[in-house]
Amino acid sequence: MIRTLAACAVALSLAACTTVAPVPAPAVATILVSIDGLRAGDVARGRMPNLDALARDGVRAEGMRPSYPSLTFPNHYTLVTGLRPDRHGLVHNTVDDARLGRFTMDDEVAVGDARWWDAGGEPIWSSAEKAGIRTATMFWPGSAAPIGGVRPSEWRPFDESFAGTARVDTVLGWLDRPAATRPRLVTLYFEDVDHAEHDRGPDSADAEKARQTVDGYLGRLRQGLAARGLAGRVNLVVVSDHGMATVAPGHAVAVEDMVPADVATNITTGQSLGFRPLPGREAEAERRLLGRHDHYECWTRATMPARWHYGANPRVPPIVCQMDEGWNGDRAAKIARRPAGRTTGSHGYDPALPSMRATFVASGPSFRRGVVLPVIDNVDVYPMLARIVGVAPQPNDGDPAALLPALRDAR
Ligand code: AMP
Ligand code: ZN
Ligand code: ZN
Repeated sequence: MIRTLAACAVALSLAACTTVAPVPAPAVATILVSIDGLRAGDVARGRMPNLDALARDGVRAEGMRPSYPSLTFPNHYTLVTGLRPDRHGLVHNTVDDARLGRFTMDDEVAVGDARWWDAGGEPIWSSAEKAGIRTATMFWPGSAAPIGGVRPSEWRPFDESFAGTARVDTVLGWLDRPAATRPRLVTLYFEDVDHAEHDRGPDSADAEKARQTVDGYLGRLRQGLAARGLAGRVNLVVVSDHGMATVAPGHAVAVEDMVPADVATNITTGQSLGFRPLPGREAEAERRLLGRHDHYECWTRATMPARWHYGANPRVPPIVCQMDEGWNGDRAAKIARRPAGRTTGSHGYDPALPSMRATFVASGPSFRRGVVLPVIDNVDVYPMLARIVGVAPQPNDGDPAALLPALRDAR
């Protein structure tokens, strides 16, 4: 009771928590949509009419803090496990494992190899399938691997060339199935916004165009649901994995200038950089790297800021350097190839930064209407999803009370 009241108190409207809501019709399905890289600040601005309509008819958060590091694979897997990357094991987009070797996002074999994903927890689709609840994924990091021995009933290898409209139509086709074979949990993923923001920056005309394109996909989805008599009977949970920051021309540090390659091996580049000292060079690597530098700061795994919940997993490299907002750490050769004078975009910065805040919007029979939540943590999405899908949640890092103010049956 006290937990429920506390959860209600964080909602903007306390009244919404105390009124008796009509008994909601059970949802036919829940669709979890990811718009990669969509900033919290792009919602409810009148620029994405379909997303804004969902927020008006349902719930939106003022923002959603990603988990560290604020990158695509770690955070997509956090959203479906409720575990911090340090606990689920996808500790970066690029991961070195002493036994398994190297994981990269574009390595189809690694992405489909459950040993990378089985290191901790279980995605909600695996738990659902084991409980006899059908699931289907129109792309999601992890969905191509048989995690816990199970894949979604439907899944596709990631394919950027598969058009957004076709992704939407595929999902609608799944919902056309008879109840016995219709999936009750579906994922849907779009990379357009992330791509455009990286290329020209989040405030560019290209990024704006990509946001409108993806909003059009949401419109197609809403219309498709309405045409099937499913408007108001399907939960739509629209999230992103992280926000995006502007990177000014020339804002790059070469990893070769951070530490020489014969002192420490560079494991990951970008914004959260990992280094492994060569045997016998540990003290020198630490002397050169640890502490504050222009545009970045480095720690050992054991001394990373506690609020990042990062460093206990053996896959985290011995030294981690975090770039300041708006700066990239890359190999000199890559920096040299970058078009001069171009403003770009990056994420991977401190999850506490407003620019890194991700999107959370939810609408449908399980959700209240017109609720605006304060900034939430992305680990809290999983226990809410488990609840509305009817799956027993696995142990996780989320707070099941955090999103109760969003739900109709918040008992
Ligand atoms: P990043 O911006 O580097 O964190 O990664 C984003 C990129 O990950 C997207 O642009 C996609 O191309 C890629 N991506 C997203 N989902 C998947 C997936 N399921 N499998 C492989 N690559 C993916
Ligand atoms: Zn992303
Ligand atoms: Zn990205």
